[in-house]
Amino acid sequence: MFERVIGQQLPKEILSTAIGSGKLSHAYIFYGQSGVGKTTLAIEFAKSIVCRNHSACGTCDACQQFFSTSDVKIIRPQKSISVSDIREITSEIYLKPFLFDKKIYVITDADKMTVQAQNALLKVFEEPPSYAVIVLVTSNLSMILPTILSRGVQIRFSPLSLAELKLCFQNEGKPIPEDGLLSRANGSATRAFALAESEGYRSMRETLISDIRLLFQKRTTKEVIRLYSDFLTYQEEWEALWDIFNSLVYDSTVSDPSLCKNTDIRWEVSLPVGTAENIYKELRSLKQKLSANGAYNIGVLTALTSIRNHLNKERIS
Ligand SMILES: [Zn+2]
Repeated sequence: MFERVIGQQLPKEILSTAIGSGKLSHAYIFYGQSGVGKTTLAIEFAKSIVCRNHSACGTCDACQQFFSTSDVKIIRPQKSISVSDIREITSEIYLKPFLFDKKIYVITDADKMTVQAQNALLKVFEEPPSYAVIVLVTSNLSMILPTILSRGVQIRFSPLSLAELKLCFQNEGKPIPEDGLLSRANGSATRAFALAESEGYRSMRETLISDIRLLFQKRTTKEVIRLYSDFLTYQEEWEALWDIFNSLVYDSTVSDPSLCKNTDIRWEVSLPVGTAENIYKELRSLKQKLSANGAYNIGVLTALTSIRNHLNKERIS
């Protein structure tokens, strides 16, 4: 059960036992750091409660109607949850469910409830209708009033292990980063994804800067091929590559380093304005071709070769 959620064996056991035995509590509080699967499990839990097969099967009529019925509400606050937001819930929660025999409310970022909002919710917690199940999800348990906490079943979510984080990447079809990066994520899949993304960008940018520098300095076919292979490696991010390339051409034309776009590096390559303009033209036409889904490989190779030729013309003249 709950296969879609990685890790969290204990919460899964507690919840599946509750569903299996039919002894559901009216209020649950899922807590633990962000990015460990609390909201995903809350939704799977809610689905399993109404599912005809009690398994969030995804195929029964209850699962099919899960997101469209008024019997289920998933509340994802943008900023704070005000007392009037909660009053809306409390006024409808006492109306019997329409489709299912349960009415379920999942409130994510429940710590965004103001104190007044929490006090309004407390009234429901004190006298819940028999069919209601409320799941509060929070990464910040200390913001929830003790009176609320004492009336709900508290379920703690642990940080994910390295192996579980790797599984998150695998399931998303993303390349699995090295252990060093994963351990810096402190067990949070969200943080690991963000780190991997920024790390990936950083190393891509470093490679590209070094290879463009070589092209601008040495100007042989070898450098063209090396850059071409960068474009193949990072094909998915070609627009980011293009931006870096374009900014380096610009930096090659400014004499004052403080005007450079890439202020974090010492670029120290200069090009005559005429050459830079020719390279800009090649880059612009490459962007047009690639944006229009033109042939990638040939487009990139042609552009890089032309850029190399422009550089060499400058050397001859
Ligand atoms: Zn189902």
